[in-house]
Amino acid sequence: MDLGLTGRRALVMGASRGLGKAIAAALVAEGARVAVCARDAARIAAVAAELGAEGLVCDLSKEGAAAAVVADAERRLGGLDILVVNTGGPPAATFESITDAGWRGAFEGLWMSAVGAIRAALPGMRQRRHGRIIVITSIAAKEPVANLMLSNSLRAGLHGLVNALSKEVAGDQITVNALMPGYQLTERLLELKVDEVAASRAIPAGRIGTPEDFAAFAAFLASEPANYVTGQAICVDGGVLQSI
Ligand code: NAD
Repeated sequence: MDLGLTGRRALVMGASRGLGKAIAAALVAEGARVAVCARDAARIAAVAAELGAEGLVCDLSKEGAAAAVVADAERRLGGLDILVVNTGGPPAATFESITDAGWRGAFEGLWMSAVGAIRAALPGMRQRRHGRIIVITSIAAKEPVANLMLSNSLRAGLHGLVNALSKEVAGDQITVNALMPGYQLTERLLELKVDEVAASRAIPAGRIGTPEDFAAFAAFLASEPANYVTGQAICVDGGVLQSI
């Protein structure tokens, strides 16, 4: 299948490693022109050089940073057809251990970075009557995971935003979808000290996913043939999620 991504311009946020980097690589492999961003200048420059992408430095937890990096990507690429909203996961915590500052930090990082990036990317997409917005969330948004209160709650809200926004922009041929990782083997998963053997046993597919498993579906959602899929929250999880 021709994904029709040759020459399409994409920004993948939070892409110095893990799922973001794998998505950027998949888009480059399909012929897209890609910008990647993350906080560390040297690391993102190395990843950009490795992939053949534009490397941009930004800290998405800072007010206004997401809008600024979208503007930067548009300048470098001459516009944006595809926006992949992604950033680091919030710290693990239970409700009673989270301070107001903790909630505000997670809200700024997970929620306002998504709002800021999407708001900045929409005018160009509307003007060109074409766009793909993909928001990386988590299966925790559908089935809360113990000790991940910030992720469980804020990401469920993002699914509401994705679905409601999809209706507002569908007339301009812009699709908006959420993509939920289950257990994909990235540094984040190792940092959360997930027991790989136990997790594999709990996954119907019998193994933890790879970033490439996830990226392949993201590339499809970014593609031309996916033009009629919008407002969805879709998991790539080897069958972990139990709900219908
Ligand atoms: P990761 O931690 O390996 O990578 C996150 C990327 O975002 C890195 O490039 C990092 O540098 C960048 N980043 C983090 N904070 C940033 C900031 N403030 N500003 C700019 N860039 C920033 O994570 P991952 O495993 O690739 O997962 C990506 C997202 O998906 C995360 O939000 C994670 O919580 C979520 N998720 C992952 C899994 C999984 O199995 N890997 C499962 C569920 C949800």
